[in-house]
Amino acid sequence: MSKMQKISVLLFLAWVSFLFYAGIALFTGGFLLTRLELSNHSSCREPPGPGSLPWGSRGEPGACWMASRFSRVVLVLIDALRFDFAQPQRSHVPGEPPVSLPFLGKLGSLQRILEIQPHHARLYQSKAHPPTTTMQRLKALTTGSLPTFIDAGSNFASYAIVEDNLIKQLTNAGRRVVFMGDDTWKDLFPGAFSQAFFFPSFNVRDLHTVDNGILEHLYPTMDSGEWDVLIAHFLGVDHCGHKHGPYHPEMAKKLSQMDQVIQELVERLENDTLLVVIGDHGMTMSGDHGGDSELEISAALFLYSPAALFPSAPPEEPEVIPQISLVPTLALLLGLPIPFGNIGEVIAELFSEVEDSQPHFSALAQASALHLNAQQVSRFLYTYSAAAQDLQVKELHRLQNLFSKASADYQRLLQSPQRAEAALQTVIPELQQFLRGVQAMCLESWARFSLIRMAVGAAILAAACFLCLLVSQWATSPGFCFHRLLLIPMAWGLAGAIVCAGLLATTELKLDPVILGAMAAVGSLLPFLWKASADWGSKRPLAALLPIPGPVLLLLLIRFAAFFSDSFVVAEARATPFLLGSLILLLVVRLHWEGRLLPPKLLTIPRLGFSAPTGPPRHNGVQALGLGVGLLLCIRLAGLFHRCPEETPACRSSPWLSPLASMVGGRAKNLWYGACVGALVALLAAVRLWLRRYGDLKSPEPPVLFVRWGLPVMVLGTAAYWALASGADEAPPRLRALVAGASVVLPRAVAGLAASGLMLLLWRPVTVLVKAATGAPKSRTVLAPFSGPPTSQADLDYVVPQIYRHMQEEFRGRLERAKPQRPLTVAARQLGSVYSAAVVTALTLLAFPLLLLHAERISLVFLLLFLQSFLLLHLLAAGIPITTPGPFTVPWQAVSAWALMATQTFYSTGHQPVFPAIHWHAAFVGFPEGHGSSTWLPALLVGANTFASHLLFAVGCPLLLLWPFLCESQGPQKRRQPPGNEAEEEEEPLMEMRLRDVPHHFNAALLQLGLKYLFVLGIQILACALAASVLRRHLMVWKVFAPKFIFEAVGFIVSSVGLFLGIALVMRVDGAVNSWFRQLVLAQQR
Ligand SMILES: [Zn+2]
Repeated sequence: MSKMQKISVLLFLAWVSFLFYAGIALFTGGFLLTRLELSNHSSCREPPGPGSLPWGSRGEPGACWMASRFSRVVLVLIDALRFDFAQPQRSHVPGEPPVSLPFLGKLGSLQRILEIQPHHARLYQSKAHPPTTTMQRLKALTTGSLPTFIDAGSNFASYAIVEDNLIKQLTNAGRRVVFMGDDTWKDLFPGAFSQAFFFPSFNVRDLHTVDNGILEHLYPTMDSGEWDVLIAHFLGVDHCGHKHGPYHPEMAKKLSQMDQVIQELVERLENDTLLVVIGDHGMTMSGDHGGDSELEISAALFLYSPAALFPSAPPEEPEVIPQISLVPTLALLLGLPIPFGNIGEVIAELFSEVEDSQPHFSALAQASALHLNAQQVSRFLYTYSAAAQDLQVKELHRLQNLFSKASADYQRLLQSPQRAEAALQTVIPELQQFLRGVQAMCLESWARFSLIRMAVGAAILAAACFLCLLVSQWATSPGFCFHRLLLIPMAWGLAGAIVCAGLLATTELKLDPVILGAMAAVGSLLPFLWKASADWGSKRPLAALLPIPGPVLLLLLIRFAAFFSDSFVVAEARATPFLLGSLILLLVVRLHWEGRLLPPKLLTIPRLGFSAPTGPPRHNGVQALGLGVGLLLCIRLAGLFHRCPEETPACRSSPWLSPLASMVGGRAKNLWYGACVGALVALLAAVRLWLRRYGDLKSPEPPVLFVRWGLPVMVLGTAAYWALASGADEAPPRLRALVAGASVVLPRAVAGLAASGLMLLLWRPVTVLVKAATGAPKSRTVLAPFSGPPTSQADLDYVVPQIYRHMQEEFRGRLERAKPQRPLTVAARQLGSVYSAAVVTALTLLAFPLLLLHAERISLVFLLLFLQSFLLLHLLAAGIPITTPGPFTVPWQAVSAWALMATQTFYSTGHQPVFPAIHWHAAFVGFPEGHGSSTWLPALLVGANTFASHLLFAVGCPLLLLWPFLCESQGPQKRRQPPGNEAEEEEEPLMEMRLRDVPHHFNAALLQLGLKYLFVLGIQILACALAASVLRRHLMVWKVFAPKFIFEAVGFIVSSVGLFLGIALVMRVDGAVNSWFRQLVLAQQR
């Protein structure tokens, strides 16, 4: 019976977690754009395809795929230069005065040049691919590919572009690239520039710093002549949009300033130089960008050269081209290979032979540029489709055939130039058709938000949260039935999903596992909710579903709302301790308040059917205040270990987060080392003290032996490893090999010890030892394993006396043989803390290997963390009255505080929810030589380092339920017993045995606790998902919200698994305790 309940609880928790996973996966699939990133590079020596190299390259020294047309380029990137910003003021109706908008007609110099020198200049409307955020656009503008957020196989440690790109090709060819402006380029192309002037880009309210900085250096640099490519990235227009929007007079001023810049540049240009003025994206009516609306994706592109560029005058309406066209065009114009992953199409017009009067030669030159471009794109497609499967096979085949045909036509054209003119009419469109087809296919598979997936994913997340709230409320209500509620709807959902999958399998439709998972989730959720509403809808109004007390609800709402602000997400490291501190103060105040107002008898614990008053509440005001102050102190101290987000340049990260090996001073280093080892020893001592306080460390049970001997060995191993790691460079050469060997062996040994300790714990989780103690006969060591109103008559009649008799007979005999002279008494210690002892032991065993993955000084944080959890549990326990015989509930404030502490610890251990802040060195702990080709092991190590706090707090979550029972044993000496009470044994604290006695309530409480914790975490991930989708056009979406969502999602998965394991551990212990009792009973009956 009880076993079935346990299985139901675990299954239900697994199912709820699955609902969340399905929602997360579906949302991620719609939100994060993915494609595989290739590391191949184009080079001059390798032409992109077979066949003779075209035109121009023959015999010319230094020529690459194509002879260069310009030796120098000035690239002026005006951030957010929307296409219509470059247009003149025009009237819609002829004869009326032109519409006067602040952003229209301010770039007058472009118009003047277009009118005066029509063969030298051209204005295009360039279409950017979403997401239209600066960093993604810069990636596209240099690689010629589509932007993605996660590039599979990319290097998360930095933003640096690893794909082949224009800047890399330029530096490979020995060209001098000078950069000035937005410091995003510094992250994208570290060390690539021969000269660079970076200015901070983060403050969008500052319109002038970057632009004025550029202007200070632009003309002197240009005049110095020490450059081949000059890039100036102005940010004023973009920031003006963010601050004022495009309809503000400031915008007119800013654009006029840019006009001035262009005019001055044009005057300084020489004949061999090309001027490119480009906007990376547009902006909406309110001045924002990031999404895919027409105003955001249309940007201006202006080309000019003092030498004639075009054979014809510009068309009436500027041509529309994809923005990435600039990449292959610039590469070929500068005589560079086109970047390997480019899928852009060259602007063919620019490759016409302007001087040549024959149109035939002009077209041939265009065809050869297009053909080179097509060859390069085809080579990329071939390589990409061999490595990844996300492109549609059918379309791929069609495009390959198209390319083969166009290529054959082109070769024929070269061999028989006499019929060239007619053939050219077919070759050029064929090549263009191929290139455009490839772009469309890639766009389809790589770069589109799927709003439906995002919405359904968020809806599943919201429904799962609602479900958690609903069931956590029911779990402790009377008449709650496990099987009916949990198993039937799950069976329905599972059956439905299997039928769906079966149907789809027979129709041979290839289905995304993500969609299948989502279908299973929705399929099982709907019958459940329907059944639930049928069962409870009439009895429980919806208002009763909001059981969260006001202050906690407010706190959760604040936390929910904070995910929608980039500043708050960035400042979460400081906001979380504040919220936690507020909650603790609230708890202390409330406790004090209640302790005064409630008469003591309301907090009494009836026991064995007698309603005996137990005296004052477990904490008085001073104690609660002390706990609160201690907690706040811990939070403050842990706050000393902080790592600054890169968005706040004024903030300075704590130097204590770095490993000791990076310290130079010998004395300071030794002191720190001593402090770290001291923290380790203190941690060990605290755990052992705790275990001894509630039980006994002298029993010969394997887990107890392990705690006594294994843990100190682990501490020794860790300390020795730290000594080696921090001083490895100072080791004498003779010992190098030994040191290297030890730094491999030690961490692995510690991890192995921890793993074997956990196995031992699972094998023999009952550390209760029937033990004979020496001493006074009436010491308080005897625990009756039974309490409360009897759950069955058999218990009352048999268990207690039997256990006693059994113990006494067994041990008297054994001990009389050993030490016959001493007086004896028999004790079953630790029964009262059997659950929490297992959880605390498991936590300690987990904490040591996790600690090893961090820098040494984080051990102080771990010590603080253990102390802080201890204090928090004590404080919370004080506020939870034990209501025997059940139902037991863990209040919302306890669960919220626990979740907040997990977040606080995440930051205090030196983490930040951004990819560059991940502690990559963790992958090399125990593997100093790296991992070879294996990727899962380093990923596991880095993941364990990053989500250590999530894991520890989730596994430790059952302590929230157990601790109040533990606190019952505050010591019998404190509790004044009324004279003439019942027998002494019955007054002994029963502690956690109260839970065992009412399995139904115990299981319901575990289920409720798990669901509450999942709810608190669930609304965080829901908030992140909603923030990311609502703010998908926000400036910071790819820098702040998307990484936050990913970290929160992985953190949720780790937490849910940890929670499951923690609850399963408690149930395993419970099962073992039950069989222990059963054995005693059986032994007695024999
Ligand atoms: Zn931008």
